[in-house]
Amino acid sequence: MTKVVTRIAPSPTGQMHIGTVRTALFNYLYAKQHSGTYFVRIEDTDRERNKEEWVDAIWEDFDWCKLPPDAKYRTSERLERHVALLNTLLESGKAYVSKEPKKDDPSQEVEVVRLKNPNTTITFTDLVRGEITFDTSELGDFVIARSITDPLYHFAVVADDGDAGVTHVLRAEEHISNTPRQILLLEALGFTRPLYGHFPLILAPDRSKLSKRKHGASIEKYREQGFIPEAILNYLALLGWNPGTEQELFGLEELVAVFSLERVHKGGAVFDIEKLRWFNHEHLKRLDAAEYKKRLEAFANTTVGDRIIPLVRERAVTLQEATNLLTSEFDFLENPVPYDTALLLNKGKLDAATTKKHLLALKDLTANLVVGDSSTQDMRHWFLPYVWENDSPDVVKGILMPYADQGGRGNVLWPLRVALSGKEKSPDPFTIIWLIGTEEATRRIEAALNLL
Ligand code: GLU
Repeated sequence: MTKVVTRIAPSPTGQMHIGTVRTALFNYLYAKQHSGTYFVRIEDTDRERNKEEWVDAIWEDFDWCKLPPDAKYRTSERLERHVALLNTLLESGKAYVSKEPKKDDPSQEVEVVRLKNPNTTITFTDLVRGEITFDTSELGDFVIARSITDPLYHFAVVADDGDAGVTHVLRAEEHISNTPRQILLLEALGFTRPLYGHFPLILAPDRSKLSKRKHGASIEKYREQGFIPEAILNYLALLGWNPGTEQELFGLEELVAVFSLERVHKGGAVFDIEKLRWFNHEHLKRLDAAEYKKRLEAFANTTVGDRIIPLVRERAVTLQEATNLLTSEFDFLENPVPYDTALLLNKGKLDAATTKKHLLALKDLTANLVVGDSSTQDMRHWFLPYVWENDSPDVVKGILMPYADQGGRGNVLWPLRVALSGKEKSPDPFTIIWLIGTEEATRRIEAALNLL
C-alpha cells in the first residue's frame, strides 16, 4: 500500500481563516491515523496579493495550533522545477505558447502558456461527496502560466502535489470547481491522480459563509480573545465531523484514533461561539496548574501567584477573562487599592475606637498564623502556635471567625477586609490573608490602624 501523504496549502494573502485550521486538522488527523505524512506548503503564486508578513504569520499559527507538519516549504522555492515541467508540456505539444494582447493594456503583447484541452469528461469520487462529473470542454484551452517563468496556481498545485506524492487532496469545497482543471493538468504531466475530498463550509449563524472581515473568523482573533488551541481544535473537529458517540471532549491524540472521513458532514456547519467557549473552559480546566499558570502569565504578560490559579480558573472561560479578573478583582494582591478612613469605617456605620480595638486583636491573631505561598513562609512555623502544612482559607477562617462572632461579624470583618484589599467588594478576608500571606496581611492591618 502507498504511504498516505496529505497537505494543507494556505495562500499568504491575509490572516489565517479558522476554516483553514480545520482543513489542516483533518489532513493532520488522516495522515497520522494512517502513519503517513502531512506537510504545509505556502502557496505564494499570487505575486500581487502575497505578503511576507502573512508568510511569517502562517508559520506562527501552525506552531501555535500545535499541528506540527512533517515538512514545510513554499511554492516559490520550486520555480525552477515548474519551468522545467512547463517546458516538458510545451515539447510534448500538450501545451503551447500563445501571443495575446495584455488584458489590462491591449497595446502590449504577452506570451502566456495554455493547456491544449483534450475536451474529455472527467469523473472523480469525492471522499466526502461521492461521484462528481465535469464536462471539461467548457474550460477551453485555459491559461496555465502568465509566461514561461510565471506559472499560475493550478499548474503549481498539480506540479507540487505530484512531486510530493500527495495521495489525498483534502480541502475546502470551494476547490471542487478547480478539480477538473487540475486533473487535466496532472494527466498531461503524467502524475498519478490523488483521491479528493472536499469539506463543507463553516457558516455564520445567518448561514452565510463565516468571514474574517464580517465575523472575525481568523485564528489570530480567537487567540487574542484568550482561546487555547486544544479547545479550538476540539471544537473544529466536531464542526463538520461526527464521532458517532456522545463524547465531546477530545485531545489531539484521541482524535487521531477516532477520526474518519466517512463521518465528515456533507452540509455546512454553523459556528457557535458559545459552544467554543464551553470547550475552552473545559480544556482550560484540563490543564495542570503549572501549565495553566504558564499560559496565563504569557497571555496576561505578568506573573501570577500559584494560589490565584484555582480561583480564576473556576470562573474564567478564556485567558482574556482570567486576565480581566486579575486586574478587576485581584488587583489588591501587590498592594491594597488606595482607600480612605470612611471606607474603613463602612461610611460612618462603624465606630473608630471599636474598629481600632478589633483590628489590633486581628493583627495579633493574624501574626500568629503561618500562611502564604512557600515564598512568603519563613522559619516561624517552628515556633508559632498554629502550624499548617496545607493551609487554606478555611484554616484562616477557623482562627479568625471565633473572634468575629464575639465582636459581631460586620463590625469585625468589614474593616479587616477593607484593610486587606482597600476595596468595597473583594473576596473574603480569609481568602485574602491566605493569598498574600501572614506578613503582608499584618503589614496591611497596621497601615489601617495608622488611619484611625
Ligand atoms: N491555496 C489554496 C487556498 O488557500 C488551497 C489550494 C489547495 O488546497 O489545493 O485555499
